[in-house]
This record gives sequence, structure tokens and C-alpha cells, in this order.
Amino acid sequence: VWAEVLDRASEQIDVSSLRVWFEGIRPVDVREDRLEISVPNTFAKEYIESRFRSLLEEVLDSVMGRESSLVVSVGSPAGAGNGASDGAESVLNARAPRSFKAKYTFDTFVIGAGNRFAHAATLAVAETPGVVYNPLFIYGGVGLGKTHLLRAVGHYVEDQDPSMRIRYVTCEQFTNDFINSMRDNSPLDFQKRYREQDVLLVDDIQFLENKVETQEAFFHTFNALYEENKQIVIASDRHPKYIQTLENRLVSRFEWGLVTDIQPPDLETRIAILRKKAIMDRLEVDDEVLTFIASKVSTNIRELEGALVRILAYASLYERRVSVALAEEVLKDILPDQAYREIPIELIQHEVCRYFGIAKADLVGQSRSKGFAYPRQVAMYLSRELTDESLPKIGKAFGGRDHSTVMHATAKISRLINSDRDAFNQIHELTSHVKSKR
Ligand code: ADP
Ligand code: MG
Repeated sequence: VWAEVLDRASEQIDVSSLRVWFEGIRPVDVREDRLEISVPNTFAKEYIESRFRSLLEEVLDSVMGRESSLVVSVGSPAGAGNGASDGAESVLNARAPRSFKAKYTFDTFVIGAGNRFAHAATLAVAETPGVVYNPLFIYGGVGLGKTHLLRAVGHYVEDQDPSMRIRYVTCEQFTNDFINSMRDNSPLDFQKRYREQDVLLVDDIQFLENKVETQEAFFHTFNALYEENKQIVIASDRHPKYIQTLENRLVSRFEWGLVTDIQPPDLETRIAILRKKAIMDRLEVDDEVLTFIASKVSTNIRELEGALVRILAYASLYERRVSVALAEEVLKDILPDQAYREIPIELIQHEVCRYFGIAKADLVGQSRSKGFAYPRQVAMYLSRELTDESLPKIGKAFGGRDHSTVMHATAKISRLINSDRDAFNQIHELTSHVKSKR
């Protein structure tokens, strides 16, 4: 398990940190939902806990396929898990025996335009499970907070009423449980595990794609819970109707409740998220640096936080002051060249004109004919999505329109993408055109 964790985590840790801090780590003990590792000394322990704990925990959860805890103990690498002191240390360090981590709560979730509705819906569900939106289906791109919200529901419900039975699973775990129950001929165990719950949280449901029998099992689980007014919350990387081979009866059941999306955070929200992380982890970083990072990493909050952590690790390793210059140096290494380069609005306009075969003058002109108005709205939408320009600035680039026109266009195209597969594909294609030209 540790090798796997290390392997996955190493993608997000720079080579020198890996050498300095991770070579001395040994796995000591692994159980169902807990991994213990030992480090050579207290200093290493403190450093790893302050800088890498959240990353390691996250990776561990995904490796184990469930909410797991990481215990860091200090010990000689040779004497794995021997003395009493090791044991005492582990107990001290083990997290409180709650099933949901304090890290993923509503309190630590920063609200912005892209996630406001998903946040409100999950909170409403957590306050009155099984009553308001059932099922609640949240979809959105990688690293935008879906898992965070799912776990926040678990945490909140558990906090309000410890007698509630709550289960968080990834689709993978559900699938494995189902397959094992078939193999062991123990369907009742399986049913018990999933149907005797007050709240069932299922993450990454898109992995039901192409799994006919697991879909069947999920269908029955869903019905059993739904009939009992038990809350079901589901997360996915896309709208149910874009999960290929998902049976129509499942799609329509998901639509019985509320289907809502999470959009990438705008610049303000990204800065707020970094500030919150800095406060939570007691890191001292200038706003200037946070703003710089937020402006460079825009589509994935996990990467956003990862960038901050990496910059701090680098600064501490080389005893450098955390500054914009340092941040720039570190980010240059980790961000692919393309992601680093900003996209100008002109490029978007150029590509949209080419795609629709119209002239730039018409794109930014005053004509309201559909042949121009639609490409114009698409271009405004893409400018909003792919750049950090403000609404007024985008409006200005489109023949001096005001910010509400841009907002209206953006909202209209977002709705369209969610309801019309052709529009979705079209925007997707345009986005890759623009990105490839930057
Ligand atoms: P997803 O499941 O959508 O891929 P996660 O929920 O795993 O994304 O989020 C990735 C990381 O970003 C997590 O560490 C999470 O805590 C953090 N995060 C996401 N959205 C927010 C937010 N709005 N406020 C604070 N942290 C967030
Ligand atoms: Mg997730």
C-alpha cells in the first residue's frame, strides 16, 4: 500500500523533497482503513505532517478506496512496530474515531459563483436528509470539490445525530463489494451494507459506465433506499446523460431529485481558497504570492493547493523566502508550458470566427442575427471560462458591451451545454482548438 501511495503522491512532490524526506519512511502496519508509517526522527515527523499530511491522506484514501487514516510514528526503520513507545505514539497520533475527517466540512469549503448552488443543495440535504432533494446528483470536473461536499454531508449528519447510519463509497468500492458478494454468494451481506443506511454517498458514479450487472445492483439499492426516504447523494464527473451505457431507468431516477453542477472557481474564489488553506495549515504567505498562484492554476483546486504546498516545501528546503519570484520559479517547473501561458481574448475570437466562418467585425458588431449572435455568445462564454478577464473587460473586447450582456451570454451557453449534447461537443472542440493554439 505504501509503495502505491508513494508512487501516486510522488507526482505532486518535487524530487528533492522526495529524496530528503521520503527515503527514510518505512511502512509499519496496514489495516483495513489505516496505514502506519515510521519516520527516522521527530523533526521529519513534524515536517511531513505539516507539509504532506493532506496530500498523503488524500492519496491514501484513493488507494484504499475508502476514508482511511494515516498514522506517522517515529521509530528506527529496522524495528518496525516493536516497542511500547511506538504503540503509544500511534495512539496519540491516530485521528479521533470519527468516520468523517474534519478537513472536508462545510466550514472549510469556500463558496464562489461556480459552486454556490451545489453547496447550498448539499447543505440542505445534510440538514434534513431524505426530505429535500432526493437523490442529489452533483457533477463537475476533476478537483472541483465534489468529494469534499459529499464528505461534508457525512460529517455534518454524523455531527448532528451520531445514531444516523451513513456510508460513503466510491463507485469502485461499490463495484468490488458487489463482485465479492457474488463470488462469496453472500447477497444479504451486500444488501445489508448498502440498504440499511440512512444516508448513502456514492462518489465517481461515472465508473458505472459499461458495468451492466453493477448497474443492476445499484438500481435495486437505489430503489430500496428511495422507498424508505433515505438520502442518496451522488457525485460524477459529468451529467448522467453523458455517462455512456448508463441505463435510461437510472438516468431518469437520478433526475427525480436534483441534478446540479460545479463549475471551475473564478480568480477571487481561488484566492479565497488559498487563503483559507494558509490559515488552516498555519502557513505564512503573502497575499501577493497567493494571488500569483491563483492566477496560474485555474482549473483544478487540488492542483491549486498542491502548488502552494510545493512552493512552501521548496522554500523551506532551500531556506528561501516565499516570494512571487520563488513561486514563479517553482511553478515554471511543474506547470506545463501551455497551462502557464495566458490565453488572450483575441485568440478566442479568432478561433470562434474561424469555426463558424464569420468575420471578426461581425463577431464584435451589433447585428443580432442568430448567425452572429450565437458565435458571439459562445466566444464570450469561452472568454469567461478560459481567461481571468473580468466581465466588463470581456464586454469591452466584444464591441463595448456591458457586463450584464456577458453574464447573460455565459449563463445561456452553460445551460445549453448541459442540455444539448451537440452544443457540448461543439464547445469542447472549440476549447481544444483554443488551447492548442495558445
Ligand atoms: P473532486 O472530487 O471534485 O475531484 P475534491 O473534492 O477531491 O474534488 O477537491 C480537491 C481538493 O480541493 C480537496 O482538497 C478539497 O478540499 C479542495 N477543495 C475543492 N473545492 C473547495 C472549496 N470550494 N473550498 C475549499 N477547498 C476546496
Ligand atoms: Mg472526487
